[in-house]
Amino acid sequence: MQRTFAIIKPDAVKNGVAGQILARIEGAGFRVVGMRMIHMSKAEAEGFYHVHKARPFFGGLTDFMSSGPCVVLCLEAADAIKKWRDLMGATDPAKAEPGTMRKDFGASIDNNATHGSDAPETAAFELGYFFRGMEL
Ligand code: ATP
Ligand code: MG
Repeated sequence: MQRTFAIIKPDAVKNGVAGQILARIEGAGFRVVGMRMIHMSKAEAEGFYHVHKARPFFGGLTDFMSSGPCVVLCLEAADAIKKWRDLMGATDPAKAEPGTMRKDFGASIDNNATHGSDAPETAAFELGYFFRGMEL
């Protein structure tokens, strides 16, 4: 079993599809180990996406992630990191496969409905950023 970190992003919460995304997560066989609704500050969003600090889209990305409430999740499954990335689809919803979260619920590359850790090291950092050990 492996754990990964997921976010139902502010666009998805605003659009009222958080429940549908959660149902898809459960339907795909993930165990929801941790879940909380939060509203990140700009500084918290910057800390979370620090690896993208030098990118031209960093300002817009962190404005968006702090624009409203989102749902943070710890998900568990066999090969959870890849399994959740596959279920999310490509970063750009226009390039994502039908049936993926980003195709079905994302509007654009910067309003793309969900986040998922991309490697064991990032999953460990991201889970620790949002959850205390005792919660998981
Ligand atoms: P995430 O980390 O949110 O799960 P990802 O791993 O698929 O997405 P990253 O390369 O880590 O993609 O980019 C982080 C986020 O930054 C993306 O979800 C997207 O919203 C935004 N982003 C990435 N590339 C671009 C781009 N070229 N233009 C605008 N926004 C972008
Ligand atoms: Mg990423």
